[in-house]
Amino acid sequence: MTKQKQLYRKNLLLIIAFVVLISGILIAALLITYGLTRKYVVSEFSARTIGVLERTMRPYNDLFQKKIPEINAYQGFLNKKSASEYADSVFSNYRFVKDIDFYHFTISNRKQAIGSSNKNIQIALTGVYNFKPGKSDTVKNSVNVAKDNDDFKMMSAKVNSYILSADTGRVYTSEDTYNTSYDVKPGKISYINIPRPEELKVYKQSLKGNAPLSVYQHDMMTFHLEKRRLLIKNTRPELYQRISIKQIIYDPLENDEGENLYTEIALPGAFSGYKLYFESSKSFITNEVVRRFLPIAAAVIVIYLFVILIGWLIFRNLNVNQKLFKLQYDFINNFTHEFKTPVSVIKIAGSNLRTAETALSERQQKHYGKILDEEADKLNNLMNRLLSFTQLENKSIQVKKEEIKLDDFVQKYINTFKIKYPHFTLTYQVHNECYFESDPVLLGSIFQNMIENAYKYSPPDRKELNIDVDCQRKDVVFLFADKGIGIPKAEIDNVFKKFYRIQSQYNQNGSVGLGLAFCKELVNFMNGEISVKSKVDQGSEFKIVLPY
Ligand code: ADP
Repeated sequence: MTKQKQLYRKNLLLIIAFVVLISGILIAALLITYGLTRKYVVSEFSARTIGVLERTMRPYNDLFQKKIPEINAYQGFLNKKSASEYADSVFSNYRFVKDIDFYHFTISNRKQAIGSSNKNIQIALTGVYNFKPGKSDTVKNSVNVAKDNDDFKMMSAKVNSYILSADTGRVYTSEDTYNTSYDVKPGKISYINIPRPEELKVYKQSLKGNAPLSVYQHDMMTFHLEKRRLLIKNTRPELYQRISIKQIIYDPLENDEGENLYTEIALPGAFSGYKLYFESSKSFITNEVVRRFLPIAAAVIVIYLFVILIGWLIFRNLNVNQKLFKLQYDFINNFTHEFKTPVSVIKIAGSNLRTAETALSERQQKHYGKILDEEADKLNNLMNRLLSFTQLENKSIQVKKEEIKLDDFVQKYINTFKIKYPHFTLTYQVHNECYFESDPVLLGSIFQNMIENAYKYSPPDRKELNIDVDCQRKDVVFLFADKGIGIPKAEIDNVFKKFYRIQSQYNQNGSVGLGLAFCKELVNFMNGEISVKSKVDQGSEFKIVLPY
C-alpha cells in the first residue's frame, strides 16, 4: 500500500512537472511570437512606405513619362486651340496639374528683335498662353513680359546650347535629349520639343554663315503642380492610420508625445520639396499586432493541447498496464493459494495414512478416502477452469450442437445443487419449451457458475435462487434471480472483468474473480449476451440471452 502511494506520488509529481514544463514552454512561445510579430509589424511600418509612394506617384510618373512627351508629336505646330485641347486632356487625367503655360516660339537663322540669340541663330517668342482647368477662356500673356520669364529663358538657353553643340559634331544620346527637353523644378515641370535632325543640319550651316533663310516653329509648356491635389493612395491601411504631405523640413518630434509612430519618405521630381508623412497611434499598431498574432497563438495553443493529449494518452496507457500487472499479480497469489489448500490437505491425509501405527478402521479409511477424493476434485476443477479459459481465449474449443431439452436440463442442475447445498432454496420455470440446440457442457458451465455465485453471495438466511427460462422469438432468455448481497452500482461494469473481485466476507477463500469473466467469454462465444441488474442487500438478477 505504501509502495503504491509512493508510486502514485511519483506519478503525480511527474505529471505536474510535465504540465508545468509544457505550460512554461507555451507561455514562452506565446511571448516570443508576440514580440516577433510586434517587431515585424514595426519594421513593416517603416518599410512599406515605398509601396504607398509608388502608388501615389503613379499618375505623376505617367504624366512625366507618357503624357508630356506627346508634345513632341506636334513637332512645334501646336496652336492656341490644339494646345488648349491638349491641356484639357491633362487636367482631366491629372488633377494635381494646377495650370499650364504654353509658349510658342520660332528658331531661325534671321536676326530678330526678341529672344535669345547667338551669332546667326534667333529664338523668338510668338505667342504665350495660360490654361487653367475648367476655364475655356485662355489667358493670353504679353510676349514682351514673357520673354523675361525665367522658365522660358532657361529652356531657350538649353535649346541654344543644344544647337551650339551640334557644331561640335558630337552624337546625341537620349540623355542629352532628355536633359534638354525637360526641366524639373519644385512645383513645376517645363518641357520643350527638341529640334529635328534636319533642323540641326541647317543650324549647323547657319553657324558657319552659309545657310538659306529658315524659320522653325517650336512649343514649350510649363506644368504647374499643386501638391494638395495629389491623391494619396494608402495601400496599407492596416499599417498607416494617417498619411499626409508635409514640407521636407517638417519635424515630427515637435508634436511627438510618445503616443504615435511616425515615418516618412521624400517625394520625387517636381514634388521634391515635400514628403509623405505616415502616422499611426501606438494602440492602432497594437491592434494590428494582435490581429496577426491571434492565428499564430491559436496554432501554438492547438499544438499545446495536442501535446497534453498525447501525454494524457501515454499516462492512461501506463496506468492500464499497471492495473493489468496488479491483476496478474493478484491472480498468481490467489491461484497459488487455491492450489495450496487442497495440496496441503492431501499431504496431511497422506502423511497420516503412512504414519498410522495401528491399522485404520473402516470408518477412518472412508473418511480419508472422502477427503482425498474431494480435494483432488477441487484441484481438478481449478485446473479445468483455467484450461477452458485459455482454450476459450485461443478459440480452440469446439462447440458441439446438440438438442437440449430445457426443462430436463434445468431440473438436473437444480437436483444436483439441492443435494450439494441442502439449505439452498432453488425454484425454476420454463416458459414455451422450444427446440434448442447448443453445447450442453458449455451451457452447464454457465449454470454451475451462476448457481454457485447465487449460493456464495447470499447470507445464510436468504440462500434462494429462481431460474426462469423463456423461449422468445429468436432467443432463449435465462434469468437467474437471487436474494443475495447484491452488487454496488459502481461495480456493475467491473464484475465481468477477468480476476476482478469485490472483496467481502463471502469470498474469503476460493474466489479468484474468474467465474463471471468465464461466463461472459462463454456466452459471447455462443453469440449471446450477458447482463446484470442488482440492488445492494436485495439481490441480483443475471440475464443471459442465447440465440437458437
Ligand atoms: P469470484 O470467483 O470472486 O466469485 P466472479 O467472477 O464469479 O468471481 O464474480 C466477481 C464478483 O462479482 C464477485 O467478487 C462478487 O463480488 C460479485 N458477484 C458475482 N455474483 C454475484 C451475485 N450473485 N451476487 C452478488 N455479487 C456477485
